[in-house]
Amino acid sequence: MRKSKIVEVRGVKIGGGLPPVVQGMVKTDPLDIDATVDQIEKLQRAGAKLVRLAVPNVKVARSISVIRDLVNIPLSADIHFNYRLALEVIDRGIDKVRINPGNLSPREISIIADKAKKSKVPIRVGVNSGSLPKKVLEEISRIREDKQRRHRLMVEAMVDSALGCIRVLEDKGFEDIVVSLKASDVPVTILANKIIAEKINYPLHLGVTATGPPPEGIIKSAIGLGSLLCEGIGDTIRVSLTADPIEEIKVAYQILKYLGFVDRGPTIISCPTCGRKRGDVYSIVKQISKEVGKITSPLKIAVMGCEVNGPGEAIEADIGVACTTGGAVIFKKGRLLNKIRKEQIVPTLLKELRSMDHNLKGN
Ligand code: SF4
Repeated sequence: MRKSKIVEVRGVKIGGGLPPVVQGMVKTDPLDIDATVDQIEKLQRAGAKLVRLAVPNVKVARSISVIRDLVNIPLSADIHFNYRLALEVIDRGIDKVRINPGNLSPREISIIADKAKKSKVPIRVGVNSGSLPKKVLEEISRIREDKQRRHRLMVEAMVDSALGCIRVLEDKGFEDIVVSLKASDVPVTILANKIIAEKINYPLHLGVTATGPPPEGIIKSAIGLGSLLCEGIGDTIRVSLTADPIEEIKVAYQILKYLGFVDRGPTIISCPTCGRKRGDVYSIVKQISKEVGKITSPLKIAVMGCEVNGPGEAIEADIGVACTTGGAVIFKKGRLLNKIRKEQIVPTLLKELRSMDHNLKGN
């Protein structure tokens, strides 16, 4: 794991080789305080450790102090174009500011740095491939057909934009910096982050932007974030989906779970089935899925179609079945419990699950 400097946002530590922090984004009208606070709390309950809000105008910037008082989670304000909004949200008690260097001048970034330094508010330098300098975007559109060159140009411009902004902040003695380089193109996001990770010691916030709806958005995020996290790059993540923001948190934790960063919630290990199957795996999985959805413990539940690989996989699980002719063998924490008949498979699995998860006990 890349060991960056640690940046602390209202008690939440980002970087230093710590497990990646999951961030969420509120999608309500920011002037609807009740709806915004409600969604922030839902994101927090789902597992977000930091929530970002869009601050498009002064009215919203002024409302930050009200929202800040009503919630108990670090808040980050997303600022574009108007540097005065960053100054206003800092005055209103925001915990972190995200600026997009493509939309602010070095002079404006310097002014924000002075204020953030005095108020000890970290800044995320959030580069987005969509807001690169006009000259670069024009050049990229001229070479549309040459994908490799286009990608290289985009990556270079994103890295340069981040480094330029970091230099402006450092010139002001400001080093409470988190950096993100996001593109909707997965390989561009991966390469840009790999390059910047070699050049700076600040924590990196990972995300693939504008991924679209699930499942495409989930796949793009899993590939982009997963590839970088596998190489030890990434200190905080946010999954971007055209979907309910709670889904973004769930997917972020699934990415972290399957990479071994967190042990959270149940996992179903079920085989795809093939010509060797001895039982109706689809139906068993469908029937237990509803109950599994209520589980909070990191239980592994295996449903395998036959005894070829079945017992091996089931042994890895907390509870598992491998179908046999007329029934199944059931395993619990690596030990063979007994053989059961076909009609006992689902009831036995449910009974065992209930006894293993505190949420299901007594149901
Ligand atoms: S566990 Fe058995 S049924 Fe399932 S895919 Fe493997 S060989 Fe086929």
